Amino acid sequence: MLKNLTFKAFTEITKTATITVDQHGGRAKCLQRLVRLDMPVPTTVALSFDTVRQIAQGKMTDVDAILDFFGETPLVSVRPSAEGADWGGPGAILNIGMNERRHAVMVQRRGEDAANAIYLRFIHTYAVQVAHLDADLFPAVRNPLRSDVAEALRIYELETDEPFPEDPAEQLAGVLRSMARAWEGTSARLLRKARGAPENAGLGLVVQRMALGVGADESGSGVMQFINSTTGRAQITGRYMSQSQGRDALADKHAAIFLTRDPRGHSLEELAPGIFDQLVGLGELARAKLREEMQIEFVIQEGELCVIDAVRVARTARANVEIAVGLAVDRIITREEALLRVPPRSLNELMHWQVNPEAVRDVLLSAIGASPGAAVGKLVFSSTRAQALAAQGEACILVKRETSPDDVRGMHAAHGVLTAKGGMSSHAAVIARGLGVPCVVGAGHIIIDRRARAMRLPDGRLFEEGTVVTLDGSAGEVLAGEAEMLEPALGEAFQTLLGWADEIRDIGVRVNADTPQDARIARTFKAEGIGLCRTEHMFFDDDRLTVMREMIFADAPEDRADALRQLLPMQREDFTRLFEIMEGLPVCIRLFDPPLHEFLPADRQGVVDLANALGRPVSDVQARIDSMTEFNPMLGLRGVRLGITVPEIYEMQAQAIFEAVIALAEAGTEVVPEIMLPLVSAQREVEILQSRIEQVAAKVRAERGAIFNYKLGVMVETPRAALKAHAIAELCSFMSFGTNDLTQMTYGLSRDDAGRFMQTYVQQGVFKEDPFHYLDKEGVGELLQIGAQRGRKANPRIVLSICGEHGGTADSIAFARDAGFNYVSCSPFRVPVARLAGAHAVLTRR
Ligand code: PEP
Ligand code: MG
Repeated sequence: MLKNLTFKAFTEITKTATITVDQHGGRAKCLQRLVRLDMPVPTTVALSFDTVRQIAQGKMTDVDAILDFFGETPLVSVRPSAEGADWGGPGAILNIGMNERRHAVMVQRRGEDAANAIYLRFIHTYAVQVAHLDADLFPAVRNPLRSDVAEALRIYELETDEPFPEDPAEQLAGVLRSMARAWEGTSARLLRKARGAPENAGLGLVVQRMALGVGADESGSGVMQFINSTTGRAQITGRYMSQSQGRDALADKHAAIFLTRDPRGHSLEELAPGIFDQLVGLGELARAKLREEMQIEFVIQEGELCVIDAVRVARTARANVEIAVGLAVDRIITREEALLRVPPRSLNELMHWQVNPEAVRDVLLSAIGASPGAAVGKLVFSSTRAQALAAQGEACILVKRETSPDDVRGMHAAHGVLTAKGGMSSHAAVIARGLGVPCVVGAGHIIIDRRARAMRLPDGRLFEEGTVVTLDGSAGEVLAGEAEMLEPALGEAFQTLLGWADEIRDIGVRVNADTPQDARIARTFKAEGIGLCRTEHMFFDDDRLTVMREMIFADAPEDRADALRQLLPMQREDFTRLFEIMEGLPVCIRLFDPPLHEFLPADRQGVVDLANALGRPVSDVQARIDSMTEFNPMLGLRGVRLGITVPEIYEMQAQAIFEAVIALAEAGTEVVPEIMLPLVSAQREVEILQSRIEQVAAKVRAERGAIFNYKLGVMVETPRAALKAHAIAELCSFMSFGTNDLTQMTYGLSRDDAGRFMQTYVQQGVFKEDPFHYLDKEGVGELLQIGAQRGRKANPRIVLSICGEHGGTADSIAFARDAGFNYVSCSPFRVPVARLAGAHAVLTRR
């Protein structure tokens, strides 16, 4: 027998035996817990990881000694027991020990039918899983006769040149060897790696006395759970099947019966009320003592109940929240534990429509899931068509090569967005997340023909405008037709969990919001303020766009001033509404950021229309557009650079902000606005704008006889701003790190073009993850730490935050908290994720 000082090769699972998850696996440990609860578990022996490893290497353990636990004529099953419940493992093998002698005894005791069924099942499983014969050699037989058994034995012998093993020890050795080797196989390795298992994850095996489920009196098998796996609500579900084994009851829906009384057919509750009550009692016991919702696998053997296994109920994300909160409310687990049982990202599934995980998926294409949730709609290929369909009350999916600020309203009108270009922080991705619209980006393999209003997939299939598809932004897939959907679940459990998260969390969570609608959503999700209002999004309504274009085309300062005078009341109104909705919570307004040419038409027709609107020759307009074209607009005349060179825009915005503050003060709400300068890289930029904005403030104060305060801060988006944070921080009340641009500039990687090769980069392990999605803690993270430390040293009262897309992901929230940041700011639908992640960051550091 293989024994050494540190572990026993195998151990009978008793109340006091040493069984550990990291030596025997989760199933073995769970069975011990059931034994400790005095549940009727058949005798079980657990093989340790080391034993199974040695078996895989050809050193068989003492199978005779294992079989000694099961009496003179052993009949056992073997099941895998990995450390992680989801890491897979070889399929269970039942009825080991069946042979001619045992068959004869069984015929006497339980009848010919039962004996034949059990023997044949074992021969089949052994032949396929252990001897690796083709399953097709053994046709399925419903009520096998003795002759069917004989035929199976004959085929086995013919194919393997050996008689079917009679000796239970030889059978068990074969089963253990094949299971141990299967675990070491390439496909098993890949599968468990994909599920998060470490490279060297071990496998335990449990050998258990067979509870037969066939024979005289009531015999059969089934599974029972006490909650609905989709909703998480209390409901007994499962099936029972007389004269069956294993999970047959789930496989054969016709022969199986319901558990509880049901108008659709027979039930276990009617068939065996005593056993049913016993099972319900065991379920309650398991929930209370194992502190989890369990699915119980049971066998009725001639009227006696056996519990052969129990596993954590498989569940959707929404059910997981419901279950965690339910267990904490019943004081079975603590609130902290409930919080930790819900992965922050999984909340995305609760906030949006989802494709029902049970539904059949006909996947047309896979790309990057950039904004979660799912939507069904007709394909359209322009924003104008999206708006037109929306006006008719029709749902549509907007498909574009890439989106630009011009498309924001079309995206708003659409139920889902698909782009061929782009990555996690491309325009489409950022805007879609902000709007809460499901979005898939980077589908570089589709060919879009705008004129023909159609897209072609790599396999040649053509999809024309009007074709109904389902876009799944969580999975990054587009599915054919209308998939079955689940509605959002923002119910009591969701709210309760987030309330608990807020009590624990010590990092602030604000929202990136530009519109009243965003701000209202953010309030429902309990954001603590607006951390980033991108004001450029306010200029895309038709009436404003025209004035904006007039301002851009103005030759003389007076003309520009005139256009800005028209924009002033509109901006004032924008800010007033945001301040009203936020009711005194902090609002951080970023002054105009993008290059001006983004507001100019991109195609010939647009240029002609603009020339008409401005009353200028087309050639003039075109020449002007050409003169504004930059080779590298993201690194060109934008952000604070525009503020320095075209000062009137920022002055107008500052005036609008201050006047909105006065309007709120008059209505009884005090607002201290935060004004933020984008794309800063030098101290002097801040100095110049600080003095200009103060001049505007002084003018408004004097004109209106009003008293108000404001805070001035910068976005740290360039590596230089992070490095020179000490110089910049002296002039600021706050610094908000724009990790989208900072990632772009640190890597020298265009956020709009990275989608083209990001998948390859991640697949080949060049980048561990897409850095626009998961904060690159080593490189960009170092700049954040440097910026935070230097900024704080120069100005200890400075408020530090992250407002790039990373602000809404759990790992960056933990990072930001460790680096001493005060808050994160993210798109509205990520606020709940951030609130929960903030609590996790505290709990996992305790
Ligand atoms: C950023 O760069 O991180 C940011 C928040 O600004 P934007 O995404 O608008 O460029
Ligand atoms: Mg930016």
